[in-house]
This record gives sequence, structure tokens and C-alpha cells, in this order.
Amino acid sequence: MVPFLDLKAQYAGIESEVLEAVRRSLASAQHVLGSEVAAFEEEFARYTGARFGVGVNSGTSALHLALLAAGVGPGDEVVTVSSTFVATVAAIDYVGARPVFVDVDPATLTMDVSKIPAAITNHTKAILPVHLHGHPADLDPVLDIAKKNKLHVIEDAAQAHGAEYKGRRVGSIGDLGCFSFYPGKNLGAYGEGGMVVTNNEELAHTVRMLRDWGQERKYHHDLKGFNYRMEGIQGAILRVKLRHLDGWTDARRRHASRYNALLDGLNLARPIELDWARHVYHVYAVRIAQRDRLQEMLQSQGIQTAIHYPIPVHLQKAYRDFGYSNGDLPVTEAAAKQLLSLPMYPELTEQQVKMVCEAVSSFNETTSEKAKPV
Ligand SMILES: *Cc1c(COP(=O)(O)O)cnc(C)c1O
Repeated sequence: MVPFLDLKAQYAGIESEVLEAVRRSLASAQHVLGSEVAAFEEEFARYTGARFGVGVNSGTSALHLALLAAGVGPGDEVVTVSSTFVATVAAIDYVGARPVFVDVDPATLTMDVSKIPAAITNHTKAILPVHLHGHPADLDPVLDIAKKNKLHVIEDAAQAHGAEYKGRRVGSIGDLGCFSFYPGKNLGAYGEGGMVVTNNEELAHTVRMLRDWGQERKYHHDLKGFNYRMEGIQGAILRVKLRHLDGWTDARRRHASRYNALLDGLNLARPIELDWARHVYHVYAVRIAQRDRLQEMLQSQGIQTAIHYPIPVHLQKAYRDFGYSNGDLPVTEAAAKQLLSLPMYPELTEQQVKMVCEAVSSFNETTSEKAKPV
């Protein structure tokens, strides 16, 4: 049996450190925000290379507040991708703006930057690339186009803690970077959590106010705000886990290179890491024409896999009102039919990676119709 993800294995390795942090947090009675959250904000911002970090209660809240701080509102447009988790697009909808989808690059499944200029109109306020699966989007062209058109760049780095673009950590490269600490993410809380990082003091200040009812002084509400505060206990836990993140990322990268080696020569496409990128493998997804049959066969052998994501956001029922339909984003739509995420987490063993690869190879040999590399 190879699970897709094993959060219990990770907890077992850090239990005593975590419990000590939890005790300290509970004894301080700072259950919402407080000194542990403040310390984590500083430590995580430094980790990403950004000057400021504002802890919030989810990655979705981080995106929502980043968009508000960037001044995006009703009638505005945000250029983004459909090949993402729904939260990227939901946040744009929350502020009353409209997502304008561009297709993705087939190699990295991140924003196809050559498609951005045609997507920009007089209503465009921001560009929101997603560092999907932990591989950075090609940010330099995004920043160039944004500068020329006076747009904000908001990075969705929810899957990309510690990923690097040309030697710089993602999240700190655009105007605002949004992270999620959902338990299954590369850096996961024991509950919900998120953060906005930025190098811009004014934007940081605005996000800081918005997450706490738009107040700087208690009961003086200068902005229409939200209850999006990070919990003290999550801050304390995340500080402990941040110290392990680089080791965990190294383990993910070792698993990925082992997968790459053992899956070489099969009729499937492996994820790639461009030469300017440091991929953190939140997800290790292969592309194969007979995806559903491979998944079934692996399941029958006790190997759990996942599909990120079976339906692109622009084809989801809830977002029909944005006016997109099948055929609008061919690369995104093809990827959604072919991607299969293999087990990936730091505590995965060499033996487990081998088992998965042997099962995939035997499928490759026995499959009757000719498998087409994608
Ligand atoms: C997980 C995720 C989010 C949302 O984060 P939550 O903490 O679950 O709200 C946003 N964007 C992407 C790409 C994600 O993977």
C-alpha cells in the first residue's frame, strides 16, 4: 500500500517539538494573532525573501486580501489561468472582478506568457500567475507586461513554498505573494492558515488592517475589513515546521529525480524543471493518454493517486457566468484529461517510489492500444 499523502508519518517525526510549541502557545493565551504569529510572519517573510508577511486564516483569504490591497474591484479584470485550484478564481470573484483566462505552457502548466498581451484591456488591473505543482511561472515577462500597463502582479504561491525563479524565492517577486498553509501543502498547519508577503510597506499595512476588521486601533474601523486572522496555535506550529521545510523539500526533490529516472523511456510525459527554476514538487504529475485506466490499475494494486484537477475552473458549473466554454483553453483542457499525480511527500521511501514505478511500467507494457506520449 502506497498512500498518496501521509501526514501521520510527518507528525510522528516532529511530535515532541510540536507539542512543546502548542503548550507554549496555549499557556500564553494568545489564541488569535499574538507573538507566535508575529514571529512566524517575520520568519516566513524572511524565508521567501520578502520584507513583510501578514498571517491570515487561509490561502484563499490571502488571495482575497491581496486583490483588495491591489485595488481590484467591481468591473475590473484580472488575467489569470484556469489550470489551478478553484480558490485562485474564487478570490477574483469575491472582489467583484472578472477573471480573464489565458492558456498555460504545455511544458510547465503555468501561465503561457505569450498569451498575456492579447488578454489585456482597459479594465485589466492585475496579473495573477500560479506556480502550479511547485514549478514557478515565468515571471520576468509577466513583470515586464505589468510594468508597461501599470498592473499589479499577484503570485499564487500556495503550492510553491521555497520554489525559486532565477535564484529568487517565489512570492517575493511580484507586488504581492499568497501562500496557503493548508495541511497538505508543502508547509502545512494543523488547521487552516495562509500568508500574504510583499516588499511594499503600504500594501502590507493595508492587508494587515483588512485581515482584522480594517482597524489599527481597536473599534476604529478605517477600512471595511474581515475576520481573517491567523490563530496563535497555528503560528506556533508553523514556526516549528518551517525549520524542517528545506529538508522536506530536498526529500521531495530526491523522490522526483528517482521517479524521473525510473519512468524514463515510457509512453508518458514526466514533469519538467526548466533551467531557471527550482521546483518544489508539491505535486509530481505525469501526463498519459490512458490516465483513468492507469489510475484504476494503480488503485487495484494499493497505490493511491490523485487528479489535480479533473475539470479546469473555466468549465466548472459555478463559474459559467464568466462565459467560457469547451475549446477556449486547449492546453489546459488537454492537461486536465491526462494528468495523474503520483504519491509525493517527504516521508515516502525509496522502496515505495520503486513500487509505484514498477506498476506504471507494467501498465505501459500491457496496455493494448498504443500509448501516445503527450
Ligand atoms: C491550496 C490552494 C489555494 C487555497 O489555499 P487554502 O489555504 O486552501 O484556502 C489557492 N491556490 C492554490 C493554487 C492552491 O493550491
